[in-house]
Amino acid sequence: MSETVSRRSFIATAAAAPLAGTAAFAQSDSKQPAALRGAPPIIISSANGLPATQKAADMIAAGADPLDAVIAGVNIVEADPNDHSVGYGGLPNEDGIVELDSSVMHGPTHKAGAVAALRNIMHPSQVARLVMQRTDHVLIVGEGALRFARAHGFEEINLLTDDARKIWLKWKESHSQDDDWLPPLEPADKDKHSAAPREIQYTYGTIHCSALDANGNIAGVTTTSGLSYKIPGRVGDSPIIGAGLYVDNEIGAAGSTGRGESVIQNAGAFAAVELMRAGTAPTDACLEVLKRIAKHTTDKRLRQDDGRPNFDVKMYALAKDGRFGSASIWSGGQFAVYADGRNRLEDCAALYERK
Ligand code: ASP
Repeated sequence: MSETVSRRSFIATAAAAPLAGTAAFAQSDSKQPAALRGAPPIIISSANGLPATQKAADMIAAGADPLDAVIAGVNIVEADPNDHSVGYGGLPNEDGIVELDSSVMHGPTHKAGAVAALRNIMHPSQVARLVMQRTDHVLIVGEGALRFARAHGFEEINLLTDDARKIWLKWKESHSQDDDWLPPLEPADKDKHSAAPREIQYTYGTIHCSALDANGNIAGVTTTSGLSYKIPGRVGDSPIIGAGLYVDNEIGAAGSTGRGESVIQNAGAFAAVELMRAGTAPTDACLEVLKRIAKHTTDKRLRQDDGRPNFDVKMYALAKDGRFGSASIWSGGQFAVYADGRNRLEDCAALYERK
């Protein structure tokens, strides 16, 4: 039986015998279908998305389309200078320039829009929505994306905050001993600059957010500054429909954060939605995608000594019937959830226990 059929039959049952309270409506991966007419919306996001899920819930309650709601939600994080993984304040590419990727997908129309390697614009998710609404294209990149944003009146700003610039500069001065960039001398440095390079900190981080409204309509957005210190022009999974985001209004939505190359190679979000279509519960769908990623990680440089991936990916999935879940390769992750009228963080399931 498909998810759609089971939801319809549940609604019929629920109409005859209403449930007692909203608390009964949504549990992560519970067998209890949740999306009922008049029920509160269900919204999931990455762990940095608590303000986003709340904002999206408020907007959906006020009658907004779920796509407008999730975009408004992630806009809060895009504008936050303290989140170094998204929008303004995001960590830059290897040249010190912030390049943003984002995609949006609207379940009711099955339309999508995306931008990649977009510079100087604080809200790439808004530009992605315009690509969906005002062009016949799905993905516009680089200079073309900037010109498209300009044409629509977006203000250009320098996305590199002083804080992000200092983090980048530290990386620039520390990652190689074979170039001419030198870290500042510390008083204890007798051997002037001959010390081993400091540990290189590459940073992943993104916000994904999906919502299901009381009419059973689903939408999602993923937005990011991508992998820190990437090669200019590198595009991650976030703006790739089927990788960092996918929505099928009859089945559900999925998104990802973490090492984008691995998610692209495994069509992560599309795979999660297709697994749900085949009857897999959202958390299990996330775990299955992560298993495929782990299995396909054969490069030594990406594996620990025991063969497991030395990086993390998180998958997020929201089913049409209101079940939801998230899983990460490594334990310890959380995700944001608005359900039963409550906004909170929940633990992700994990493929491997971090020791
Ligand atoms: N998935 C993003 C990318 O690879 C980064 C992240 O989520 O950490 O660009």
